[in-house]
Amino acid sequence: MEMPRKRAIVTAAGLLAVGFALYLRRSPTLRKLVKLFARATAHQLRPVLRPIEPGARALIFAFDGVGADALYNAIRDGHCPHIQNLLGGDCGAGTFEHGYAIPNAMSILPSTTMAGWSSIFTGQPPAFTGVTGNEWFVREEMRLYAPAPVSVTDIADTARMLADGLVGNAIRVPTLYELLDRRAHVALAPVHRGADLFTITDASILADLFGAVAKGTLGNTTVKQEVYQEMDENSVEALLEAIAKYGVPNLQVAYFPGIDLFSHIAEAPLDIQQIYMEKTLDPAIGRVLEVYQRAGVLDQTYVLFVADHGHTPVLNDDHHSLYTTGDHEPPALLEELGFRVRPFVLEPKPSENDYNAALAYQGAMAYIYLADRTAILPNGNYDWRRAPRFEEDVMAVVRAFDRVNRTGQPISQLKGVLDLIFARVPRPVGEDALPFEVFDGERLVAIGDYLKRHPRPDLIRLESRMRDLSAGPYGHRAGDVLLLCRSGLELPIEERFYFSGLYRSWHGSPTRQDSHVPIIVARQNSSGPELARHTQEIVGAEPSQLHIVPLLLHLLRAAEKR
Ligand SMILES: [Zn+2]
Repeated sequence: MEMPRKRAIVTAAGLLAVGFALYLRRSPTLRKLVKLFARATAHQLRPVLRPIEPGARALIFAFDGVGADALYNAIRDGHCPHIQNLLGGDCGAGTFEHGYAIPNAMSILPSTTMAGWSSIFTGQPPAFTGVTGNEWFVREEMRLYAPAPVSVTDIADTARMLADGLVGNAIRVPTLYELLDRRAHVALAPVHRGADLFTITDASILADLFGAVAKGTLGNTTVKQEVYQEMDENSVEALLEAIAKYGVPNLQVAYFPGIDLFSHIAEAPLDIQQIYMEKTLDPAIGRVLEVYQRAGVLDQTYVLFVADHGHTPVLNDDHHSLYTTGDHEPPALLEELGFRVRPFVLEPKPSENDYNAALAYQGAMAYIYLADRTAILPNGNYDWRRAPRFEEDVMAVVRAFDRVNRTGQPISQLKGVLDLIFARVPRPVGEDALPFEVFDGERLVAIGDYLKRHPRPDLIRLESRMRDLSAGPYGHRAGDVLLLCRSGLELPIEERFYFSGLYRSWHGSPTRQDSHVPIIVARQNSSGPELARHTQEIVGAEPSQLHIVPLLLHLLRAAEKR
């Protein structure tokens, strides 16, 4: 297959597998780890496993890239009989006989995988977790972290995430597994720091997957779907083996990455999700529930169904894909302004470290990090710990993107691709970053004030979610300038853009389709209204991913008191 100039890169959570297989060919250390994983399937994360406490348990089914509508439709339309059976009859308004689906729960921003799961498994927003996207630049280390690479193709960080807990180690706040402090098993999830066991599928499947990618057979969706389904199914196999050997833990997380990757490249992404739920995930969930039932613990187990973000179909052509290199892509505008842009690789050569602009891509968003162009160190690199200058560095970039977006000058292909441009007065590393403001065409204004004059009901909870991303100790990691491209189901597909290589579906935006996420709580032994009451005490009027940790702790502690 001839590769297009912009390669149809496989990113997001599905790269878990590919990254692993590729990286093991290059690194002896990781090769050893892979072998360990291949044999053991369960990797012990603590020297001694915490004991399993009697009483209430929790079981989290974590779907990557399944939006609320996708999951709720799949359940309503009978594609998920095992989930439906657990929930019991639908009593309306999100309440089931034995379950409660929280209405209007939103993701954090950006609505992307790594930032989402980091916030889900800590209850803290990105400006506090330090994980602000699928990839992000850390100024004080001059390092791009890319556990789900978008602007780079190197998948070493994906391998490090699995073999060495890269995402968990990047998180600056306690995880659910640390807060709960009970036996926790995690199947495949990016965030597993503080758990007892991490289970992972065998390396041979992963190698097959890599082989399929390398051969360029990505166009053949039949093959692909099977491969990803197999990955998700085998993960459940490993999870059940661990339960057979170590017991039913107090907390079990079952993470399913395959459905997200498949949605990115499938021809009818939203239809395929229904089929994927029916053919793969619901049966896998049924197997886990059956094991809990046989072990006699299902009655006392809170079962949660959650996801990180939804999916919005896009056109896979050069015009709609805002990518990295080439004279009509966004970085070319920075070069036009005299910035030296960090190369789009995970680790630039030592001679390439004299850049003063860096980018990280999140689908609907792009982060632009800027150095103070007067702060040059003796080694010729820029002092990235310092803040860029507000007018000469930050606003120069803001005005240039505003101009190109309005006029097509000096890059005609970038005309009309952006929705909003955010920036703020920069602060140096070590000081809390300020909340993003939005450029109104003349100056930066507070998002709340801007929205009063230019209402945007399509951008859900924009002000609070942008604050969660930007204001705090690690808010710098969302860039000095943030570009939001035009996106959302509200626009015709021809008017939707995305920062990445070619895809058929993306996410990351504040629109409803990307942001509205499912959070379902169920327990065989509880009534739906009772679960709804408990849940509403915690989530209040604006339910979000950030409520999952407090909700779980509340449910489990309340159960322990009884
Ligand atoms: Zn995801």
